Amino acid sequence: PFEVLVVGGGPAGSSAAIYAARKGISTGIVAERFGGQVADTMGIENLISVPYTEGPKLVAAMEQHVKEYDVDIMNLQRAEKLIPSASRGGLHEVHLANGASLKSRTLVLSTGARWRHIGVPGEEEYRNKGVAYCPHCDGPLFKGKRVAVIGGGNSGVEAAIDLAGIVGHVTLLEFADELKADDVLQKKLRSLKNVEILTSAQTTEIFGENGKVSGLKYRDRQSDEVHDVSLEGVFIQIGLIPNTEWLKGSIELSQHGEIIVDDRGETSIPGVFAAGDATTVPYKQIVISMGDGSKAALSAFDFLIRNPEA
Ligand code: FAD
Repeated sequence: PFEVLVVGGGPAGSSAAIYAARKGISTGIVAERFGGQVADTMGIENLISVPYTEGPKLVAAMEQHVKEYDVDIMNLQRAEKLIPSASRGGLHEVHLANGASLKSRTLVLSTGARWRHIGVPGEEEYRNKGVAYCPHCDGPLFKGKRVAVIGGGNSGVEAAIDLAGIVGHVTLLEFADELKADDVLQKKLRSLKNVEILTSAQTTEIFGENGKVSGLKYRDRQSDEVHDVSLEGVFIQIGLIPNTEWLKGSIELSQHGEIIVDDRGETSIPGVFAAGDATTVPYKQIVISMGDGSKAALSAFDFLIRNPEA
């Protein structure tokens, strides 16, 4: 059995594995796809001290860093079930899709999240070519340009407010007949001069020219008319889904499916820690996930020295 088993190989998991291994304790990391969301990212400009890098390059660097240590890396393996230890300090069990099961005295769960897609023509084709999901990451790429934000909940309205300060013009599209965001955010949004709000607007297509987004089509659900909006960017903000379906019933999750952690990264199960986008930690970013992973690993180490093997 391991002393620390990390489930998930994104920035949070990589960081947790390195911090655990540096304590000289037996460490394993199991990941469905090493690198996580970073593998799908083009330019990264907010990893502090690295002014510019690209997803695949950062993934290779994270993997190489993990390999500097004695870490058992199990890539391309999906965890399907967690069986918590019956006693404090005992062994937790993680069942994999391939039928194997791994045992460990502590766990760091870092299975990340995925952006909800709207599933309209053009969304996949123009991903990273105008279609974006993260305003903190990609907002500055659209400086002075026209963008749309799809989604009128808190994240969509926050994104529109954030982007309005950077880009030239923002069109916010909400499917329902009113915005769902908190009143204070709506008020702020409505005070901005370069924002247009469209409700009852069903986005039906994202189209482009020369391999880049040039506009979107939406159907006005009141009049049934279809309109075109010319723009350079589309931010889709209809939800971030944590990859925690496999944990339902075994661990406490928030109403959004995030693993509930305390300020040390501990979950509702003693000896089970969690880090990164899969958790309730606010703001989902690479640097935040890396910091969170190291925190969870240090907490796991602390748990090991305080709790005798059961
Ligand atoms: P993830 O990166 O999601 O990694 C999760 C890991 O868990 C993966 O290895 C996955 O395969 C694995 N996994 C999932 N389920 C299971 C399972 N059941 N069993 C085993 N393994 C499993 N952030 C920035 O800071 N700057 C940016 O510029 C930036 N750009 C982005 C661009 C895009 C297109 C996207 C999608 C995200 C971007 N982000 C950016 C956000 C950033 O990528 C995430 O915040 C970060 O990757 C979260 O790290 P994580 O380790 O928590 O999870």
